[in-house]
Amino acid sequence: MGTTPPIIGIDLGTTNSCAAVVESDGKVKLIPYKGGDFTIPSIFAVDEKGHELIGHEAKRQWQLNPRNTVYASKRLIGRNYKSEVVDTMKSLVAYELKEGQNEVLIDVAQRSLKMSEVAARILDRIRNIASDHLQEKVDRAVVTVPAYFTDRQRQAVKEAGKQVGIDVVRIINEPTAAALAYGVGKGLAERVLIYDLGGGTFDVSVIEIRDRVFEVKATGGDIFLGGLDFDEAIIRLVLKDFEARHGIDLSQDPVAMQRIKDLAERTKIDLSQRTEASFHIPFIAMTPQGKPLNVEMMFTRKLLEQLTGKLVDRTLQTVAQVLVDAGLSTRDIDEVLLVGGQTRMPLIQERLTRFFGKPPSKGVHPDEAVAIGAALYAHSFEDDTDLKVQLLDVIPMAIGIEAAGRRMHVVFPRNASIPNARQVPATTSFDGQQEVVVRIFQGDLPEVQHNELLGEFTFGGLPAGPAGAAQMEITFDVNIEGILTASARDLATGRQMKTTVRVTSA
Ligand code: AMP
Repeated sequence: MGTTPPIIGIDLGTTNSCAAVVESDGKVKLIPYKGGDFTIPSIFAVDEKGHELIGHEAKRQWQLNPRNTVYASKRLIGRNYKSEVVDTMKSLVAYELKEGQNEVLIDVAQRSLKMSEVAARILDRIRNIASDHLQEKVDRAVVTVPAYFTDRQRQAVKEAGKQVGIDVVRIINEPTAAALAYGVGKGLAERVLIYDLGGGTFDVSVIEIRDRVFEVKATGGDIFLGGLDFDEAIIRLVLKDFEARHGIDLSQDPVAMQRIKDLAERTKIDLSQRTEASFHIPFIAMTPQGKPLNVEMMFTRKLLEQLTGKLVDRTLQTVAQVLVDAGLSTRDIDEVLLVGGQTRMPLIQERLTRFFGKPPSKGVHPDEAVAIGAALYAHSFEDDTDLKVQLLDVIPMAIGIEAAGRRMHVVFPRNASIPNARQVPATTSFDGQQEVVVRIFQGDLPEVQHNELLGEFTFGGLPAGPAGAAQMEITFDVNIEGILTASARDLATGRQMKTTVRVTSA
């Protein structure tokens, strides 16, 4: 047997990350960290001495150092500073965001970092833990991303791996990975719906499993819906209650906010088990007379459900839309698989049971399925036999080019299967024009300014002539990972120019 080190599977989560591997005995195992945990917080920080902290160490000092502690960075990777996502994040996080070249940067301890650099550090830590555990060098990984990630976000994750010498051999979608964890090797013929509500994002996919073929029928999601929003609902009520009682706005005090955030999450998690939980934080502020003030509240599961019922409704609307996109009804779904820590909330399970007329499956572990699926796929990656797993995925949002009037000319509609290639004819629009600039966008809205700019490329060297004389053909190619390349050909001369879409500069 050769001794090529294994390719590991990494679930790079918004809140926690996790890795798994198929060991030499053929069994898939999660890779444990110090202390027996299987996940590490996806948190990066720089302490006051300038030391970089990752994972548990970073989380532990979060309350004391909120401005230099970066969490939920996955929501920002591959994004422009001027985007709705970044605007929303600014109001949610205590660290500084600023504008970089075509991407958002964070300022920690007087340094500006790209989001891919934060992801790189987390990936590096996971890889080192895996290397220690396996006692061999690990430098290849399959990494999962939300199905909803754009081309740019996928490229940024690949780039993050490259920065620390990890070859990200394949990016796969988190719901697809969960379906793999559920279905590989079971000889199934089923349609499953993956409901994945993690810390920061919501993803839903319908996947048809035919033994080793996993075909995504439709996918959808909400990049701004996750466990953090359920915490927010508690936080808002605590702030309102405190202000009403004491006239003090705690949202201006980062340390107080961090204590509230921590307890809000713990309370929410407790209320998945219990029907009541007290919410008590001593000495959170002082009166002008120097008297210490405490937060003193009670939360019930019912109250939490009232505060967050709308969030659950939003997820079900997305589920309904994905079923429409797949051309299916609830009866066509054989199993509903739950992924992501937030799906432990009883209300979510109850609402899904009502929606589908049957309870969700217990077939996968919500926290582990994605890493396990990534490891199974990694193992299959180099398999040349019939046992190789085959994935047939889709793009989550339309990809298109800018047309006259800033309209989006769709090249690949949402849920187009991948890999996929399409040709689009193009020509010059004014006399003497020797270059054609093509701007590529991803998103489902009709006007390009509401979609995400993926990149632009220039096809130059055309002979000067009247408008419309040049005949060009642009080929767009989306590979199995959802990553786009574009090439153009002058039909008169056959001259070819190829480029990978590049706005990322990750
Ligand atoms: P993940 O990204 O899958 O690790 O999901 C993390 C999210 O799940 C966080 O927002 C957690 O607060 C939330 N979570 C974890 N356990 C529970 C639980 N028992 N009940 C409700 N939410 C939970």
